[in-house]
Formats: sequence, structure tokens, C-alpha cells
Amino acid sequence: MSEARPAPLSAPPAAPPPPARPAGAPPPSRPAVRAGGGAPAELLPVSPLGAGPAAVPGRARPPDRVDPLCPAVLDLPGPLHRPYVARPRALRGPLELYLAEVGAQDERALRWARELLDGEERARAGAFRRPRDRDAYVIAHATLRALLGPLLGVRADELPLMREPCAGCGAPHGRPALRAPGLHFSLSHSGDLVLVALAGTPVGVDVEGLASAEAVRSAQCALHATEVAELARLPAYERPAAFTRTWVRKEAYLKGLGTGLVRDPALDHVGTGDRPVSPSPRWTLRDVLVPAGYAAAVALRRE
Ligand SMILES: [Zn+2]
Repeated sequence: MSEARPAPLSAPPAAPPPPARPAGAPPPSRPAVRAGGGAPAELLPVSPLGAGPAAVPGRARPPDRVDPLCPAVLDLPGPLHRPYVARPRALRGPLELYLAEVGAQDERALRWARELLDGEERARAGAFRRPRDRDAYVIAHATLRALLGPLLGVRADELPLMREPCAGCGAPHGRPALRAPGLHFSLSHSGDLVLVALAGTPVGVDVEGLASAEAVRSAQCALHATEVAELARLPAYERPAAFTRTWVRKEAYLKGLGTGLVRDPALDHVGTGDRPVSPSPRWTLRDVLVPAGYAAAVALRRE
């Protein structure tokens, strides 16, 4: 696989959060993959799951360290502005991960994004009170469409999207899916970030802003008993970050399963430390590298 890239080199062993940066500046310490003006086929794939620890020149690293996966960063006006698709493209490996930043998009990108949405999505977008939330929703769903279109060889505004049966009641309001075999996706957005995973097997992603100390206290009952004990051993100032990375791992896994929070999140142990623990041998669970103030994870079912 000549296109396969090595695991990202950007996360130092101690994984401190990246420094704050000005709005609109490209994220530090990772390659910004610019898709503007080009076809999505030019987007680089992320490192394949299961790749071993990256060799960081000149730096010793623990042998069991698993770096977060590095998503490709999307520059939206390019991929969104492509009404015609010649033929479907294949997935580049078991997983592709993409990150878009809502605040980095200009009015032109928002206009194109709105035009890609269907009636239901436009109605949902229109229901948001805060323009920022509405724009995040529009960018998230347009990004998903712009990424899925080329995989199916259809226009982004003509995707065969449907809703799976709800895991709680069986009604057709479960997670969105494609009427297309062998292609799975997951979408998550929080604050200014949109994260999309495309895969050949069921997949789940989640991105969340850093939890407040109050949220950590009130949500502990949703954690596995082992995770509660792990958090209790941490100094208080480390708990919000540890809780948030634990929570996104859980949500990614439950989204991958297709149950969402219908399944009790306290049932599965995903670990609060630097290294995620997969709750099932059938699933790979990895953290995803996102800008400071957020945590993200992806769960991918093995073949
Ligand atoms: Zn339901």
C-alpha cells in the first residue's frame, strides 16, 4: 500500500494538550491536508488501524504506547463544490478519518454546505437558535455528504441515506446509514469541530469538548466501576481530561455498536488512561488527535 502513511508522529509520549492557537490557524504538529480546489481523491488517508507505534527519531518512547490517530483536516469549499462524480472511489484502507473546523469556514463554504442538505436536514438546521450551532450542524452534515458522495459515485445531494431502526424502540429514527452495502460511516460534532469516519466495517466516532468539573461529578454514575476508581486516584485537576477521553471512547464504541446510549455506558470498560482499552476483542478502539480543549475517539469493528 504505497498510500499508507505511518502512524502520526505528532503526539509526544506524555501527550500534553497542544498549545492554544489563533482562530483559523492550522492545527499545530500535524499535517494539514488541504482539499480546497481538488478532488476528494487527493485527500490523504489516515494511518491504518493496528499500525505499530511510530518510530520518533531521536526520542525514546514506551513500547506499549499507542499514539492517537491523526485525522485529515478538510478545507471545505473544495470538496463541497463538486456537483458531479465520475465514478465511485474505493476506501483507502480500513478507516478514513476527517476533521473540519466550523469556525475556519467562510460564507462561501456555508452557502455550498446549505445547498447539499436535504429537506429534513434543513429543517433541523433551521431549528437551532444560535447561529453558531446551526452552522456547525450544516457544516457537519454537508461534510459527511461531500465525503460519502465520491465513495458511492453519486452527487452529494443525492445520497441514499436512511435511518436504521432505533435500538431502543425499533422505530425508524436510529442512526443514519446508507442504503449501500460494505460502506459504514460515523459523524460527530461538538463546538467548533466536526469528525467523520468512513470504513468498510461498522464504525463509531465521538468528539466532545472538555467536561467541566461539575459534569465529571454528575456523570460518574455512567462510568464503569473500574473507571470510577481510576478517576478517584487522579488529582482533581486531571479528572476533566481523563473523564472526557473516557467518555468519547464509550460513545464511539456505542455508536459503532449501533445502540448509542440505549446500552448502559457503565457496562463497558474503555480505560481512563493514555491508552484506550477495547471493551471487546471484535473492536479496535483508538483515541483521535484533535485541537486543545477537545477529546475524540474512534471504534472500528474488525472484519
Ligand atoms: Zn426510539
